[in-house]
Amino acid sequence: MVDAPAVGELTPPNRTLMGPGPSDVHPRVLRAMSTPLVGHLDPSFIEVMDDVQDLLRYTFQTENQWTIPISGTGSASMEAAIGNLVEPGDTMLVPTNGYFGDRMASMANRAGGEVVTVDAPWGEPLDPVDVEAAFDEHSPDVFGFVHAETSTGVLQPSVPELTSIAHANDVLVIADTVTSLGGVEFRTDDWDVDVAYSGPQKCLSCPPGASPLTLNDDAMDKVLSRETDPRSWYLDLSLLEGYWGDERAYHHTAPITNVYALREALRLVSEEGIEQRWDRHRSVAGALKAGVESMGLEMNAPDEYWLPSLNTVRVPDGIDDGTIIQYLLDEYDLEIASGLGALSGDIWRIGCMGHSARPRNVSYLLTALGDALAEHGADVDVDAGLAATSDAL
Ligand SMILES: *Cc1c(COP(=O)(O)O)cnc(C)c1O
Repeated sequence: MVDAPAVGELTPPNRTLMGPGPSDVHPRVLRAMSTPLVGHLDPSFIEVMDDVQDLLRYTFQTENQWTIPISGTGSASMEAAIGNLVEPGDTMLVPTNGYFGDRMASMANRAGGEVVTVDAPWGEPLDPVDVEAAFDEHSPDVFGFVHAETSTGVLQPSVPELTSIAHANDVLVIADTVTSLGGVEFRTDDWDVDVAYSGPQKCLSCPPGASPLTLNDDAMDKVLSRETDPRSWYLDLSLLEGYWGDERAYHHTAPITNVYALREALRLVSEEGIEQRWDRHRSVAGALKAGVESMGLEMNAPDEYWLPSLNTVRVPDGIDDGTIIQYLLDEYDLEIASGLGALSGDIWRIGCMGHSARPRNVSYLLTALGDALAEHGADVDVDAGLAATSDAL
């Protein structure tokens, strides 16, 4: 006999989420999640699936028929992309300029692929010249890059240049848009990206659980003409076609409530307009950036590659990053994050994504961060920071 544990009612703190995700969820999305469950093959749910696919095509700016949410977090859509595109013996070219390029490499390895790299230091984007050289040296079959590197706060510019290099070499391109989709300009079709995957809990401000993926016909042709099955049954796109394609037959039970949530989150994107949403992220995060810089802090990413949805701020001398993070959580119920990997201890990562990319969140963040730094003896001009932010807003 195992005794029943004394577990009380769930009472999570009411945080303001300004980390690398999840971001604040819009109340309409939370309401959608408390609507009644239906079956995953219910005619009403089939309509919900169609809506989600249409809204995802708009958000990705693509006509791709193959546009679906993958059950799971961003890593699941990432593994669906890589695990289906990379066959045993294929070579995948991945970047070394951040945390998520390494994850691409692990997934390509597990898919039976060989991994080669195009090098750039952490905190810098890929240079198309280096990408071209890597194609010449390694003749890869698949090329992956990270559009918005959440570990460094760097936005990869010149995406069309990268895709044209790849296509001149007959190579398919996979883009990680987890921290850009719905927050930073990304145009799947105009930029000739073959496969893009994302996550719901960053710029779409939806809880994690159903993650966007789109593939064009070239990519799907490769997937459907594989000689061996992908190693994952759950993420096998040729099987998922049965559920999300015309047939609508059972493969696995879709996370109904997460699909409801994604539908509402994407409806918010289309109501606002995708370009207006990109503009909002730039202007609201721009006020955040102006504030921290006027306070005397330094951004980690150079201005040309600044990523509005994820702001990396250098920790000033004599300050411990973790102490400030804890103070913001304790005193302000405010979440920001520390650096990862090579930047651990050197930066804070401050998200400005989706429903968190609002003037009130940014003002609150500047006030709280200013107080935390002053309290711990940092040499910062809090008033100048607050003034710059309110001017910019
Ligand atoms: C968050 C993130 C992922 C992984 O998503 P999870 O939802 O944590 O599985 C992948 N790539 C990038 C760039 C991310 O920021």
